[in-house]
Amino acid sequence: MSTLAYELAQSELFQDVHEDVIRLVMAQSEPIELRAGHILLSPDKENHHIYLLLSGKLDVHFGSLDTPPIRELSEGVSVGEISIIDGTPPSAYVVAKETCRVFPIQHDLLHDLVANTSPVAGNLLRLMTQWMRANTQRIVKDRLQIWELTDHANVDALTGLYNRRWLDNALARLLEQSSKNEQPLCILLIDVDHFKKYNDTQGHLSGDQALIALGNVLKTTVRPYDFATRYGGEEFLVILPNTNKEEAIVAADRIRQNTVLKKICACNGTELPSITISVGLAISHSDSTAQSLIAAADAQLYRAKEEGRNCVKY
Ligand code: GH3
Ligand code: MG
Ligand code: MG
Repeated sequence: MSTLAYELAQSELFQDVHEDVIRLVMAQSEPIELRAGHILLSPDKENHHIYLLLSGKLDVHFGSLDTPPIRELSEGVSVGEISIIDGTPPSAYVVAKETCRVFPIQHDLLHDLVANTSPVAGNLLRLMTQWMRANTQRIVKDRLQIWELTDHANVDALTGLYNRRWLDNALARLLEQSSKNEQPLCILLIDVDHFKKYNDTQGHLSGDQALIALGNVLKTTVRPYDFATRYGGEEFLVILPNTNKEEAIVAADRIRQNTVLKKICACNGTELPSITISVGLAISHSDSTAQSLIAAADAQLYRAKEEGRNCVKY
């Protein structure tokens, strides 16, 4: 098998597809190299190809290219499939984050491949696409609304929580305030358990839904004067001002339990498995800095992972 045939066979689209079909696809097209910044798909432009990402990374932006990427795509995924199935322009921008190699597959060839299986497969695809399109439009609208309503530089686009940039400023400020008022401050560093496996088994979009669900748990579980932030990836940080250790343990365990109970739904409405989280708790001292406090919470988070996950350590 050639390298290209191997790369195609590894892609999500060609899982379990016979070598003959892959050879047929290879004969129709060639990989294209994209430079960083190249706009592969755009809502302003009709699309006639599905692109398989062979190497490099692509960013997906909703609404406008100025918004932070909503997703990062790695090799093996395909993009453009929805727009070529329902014949409308893409709903997002897809941009090369670095040098990428993509393999384009013509609209007509994809239709032939599907038609050769069964008309039912084609009909099913169309129906699912209509669903996804409707859902994506709703998500884009919600995101844009959040974006417009908030100071978007400080808000994480996926969850609507404060982002890392906000945290870096705010934690130092809140610590200073607590120390001045001689009040304790606690932080919770939260990490989703086995999330890589969740993405691998449920798909990255479902992983995103799980992160959104966890964001909602945080928003609804913490007190109005606490702050929930997305620290990065599948890690979250909650700041509990004027909170002693005992109160923080109760808060952390409530978040942990509510996460287990939280229903997660895929974009098409089907229910997904729930997730669990591990939590590291740290309390401030008079000489704490934002960095030292986060390091202390991180050490406890490490213990929580070591000791079986789905627990709080302090
Ligand atoms: P552990 O229990 O030890 O934390 O294992 P883990 O698999 O959660 O940890 P690891 O750090 O290996 O994997 C984290 C995964 O989180 C990998 C990454 O793809 C995924 N991830 C990070 N950010 C996002 C995101 O925005 N969306 C989705 N769907 N996945 C994300
Ligand atoms: Mg992690
Ligand atoms: Mg994790």
